[in-house]
Amino acid sequence: MLSHSKIIIVGQGISGTFLSYYLLKEGKDVLVFDEIKNNASSNITSGVINPVTGRRIVRTWMIEEIMPFAIKAYQAFEQFLQINIVHQTNILDFHPTAQMQLAFDERVKEETYLLNVTNTESWRQFFNYDFGIGEINPCWQINIQHLLQTWRKHLLEKEILIEQKFTQEHINEYKDCTIIFCDGVANTIFPFFNLLPFAPNKGESLIAEINDLPRKNIYKQSCAIVPWKDNLWWVGSNYEWNYLNDLPSKEFSTNMEQKLKSFLKLPYKIVDHFAGLRPANLERRPFVGFHPINKNLGILNGMGTKGCSLAPYFAHQLAANILHQAPIHPNADVKRFAGILSKQ
Ligand SMILES: Cc1cc2nc3c(=O)[nH]c(=O)nc-3n(C[C@H](O)[C@H](O)[C@H](O)COP(=O)(O)OP(=O)(O)OC[C@H]3O[C@@H](n4cnc5c(N)ncnc54)[C@H](O)[C@@H]3O)c2cc1C
Repeated sequence: MLSHSKIIIVGQGISGTFLSYYLLKEGKDVLVFDEIKNNASSNITSGVINPVTGRRIVRTWMIEEIMPFAIKAYQAFEQFLQINIVHQTNILDFHPTAQMQLAFDERVKEETYLLNVTNTESWRQFFNYDFGIGEINPCWQINIQHLLQTWRKHLLEKEILIEQKFTQEHINEYKDCTIIFCDGVANTIFPFFNLLPFAPNKGESLIAEINDLPRKNIYKQSCAIVPWKDNLWWVGSNYEWNYLNDLPSKEFSTNMEQKLKSFLKLPYKIVDHFAGLRPANLERRPFVGFHPINKNLGILNGMGTKGCSLAPYFAHQLAANILHQAPIHPNADVKRFAGILSKQ
């Protein structure tokens, strides 16, 4: 690996952004390729880092280590680029059913990220709800789009970003370089890592103008209402495995508007609709590291629904592996698929 001194990074989503940042910081010779794709996952993410998720409200994998790491990493980026992208927030979880309330009440006894909201009546002016309100605290929200755009500008100024699709011809051209694929769901177009158990899913969101809703929280019932820019809110989402394309669908907008109407008492206006594919996989663990046979080819991918927290942490591990042969977490290292990858 180290003999390949130039490092090509394919993709400037969250993964490619952090990997290029860590390698450049250590003085490496880096060239990034990114094909502009407005609905790439990183361009439509709500940017939320939530320590407990799912119906069972359990801690997400390695969150005690990954969340503080990610926040420090985004704050370091804030300093470096002189931007403001990190906000601490919380999620107010309006229990949709009595069972969900019971489940939350059980979990709150043992989970320090969970609290019960006592003053529930004050939210009646904004929302319809029949059960209690739980709180997840702390959560974080990152303005990923601002970060990516500012970093893109920085790379362009340094003349180390090519706004072009990276193709098989480029692989031949850069065969003496280390090439790291941070290309999200597009990864399967190359033959090197496409046997990894990718399971992309489609997610959509509506952007709604809502005035007079306090902006310091994220609100959740059967949909999440997340502060977006100015007086706008990101409303979503869904997880669709059987999709025909990555475009906004009428079915989603009708369904999500119904949910919004039954939850929110305030007037709103839909101003946009996003759809894209999450680079998810069957194991729900990232794909990080180097190909067992084509040793100059690496990957940082498979971030699924949690790229905002996972990408900084694993980009750092991959950079440390490239620079100092530091180990990659065994549950993330693509070495675990060495058998499958060796067949390619
Ligand atoms: C609706 C939705 C909501 C989400 N909300 C959250 C959230 O709140 N919190 C969270 O943690 N995660 C969230 N996610 C998931 C998160 O967005 C992803 O995990 C993350 O963005 C993945 O980043 P990435 O850089 O690995 O891939 P991507 O964002 O897909 O970036 C890949 C980049 O590579 C480029 N590329 C691909 N192929 C080529 C090529 N051949 N040549 C050049 N460039 C190429 C693409 O154009 C793109 O810019 C959400 C996702 C969706 C869809």
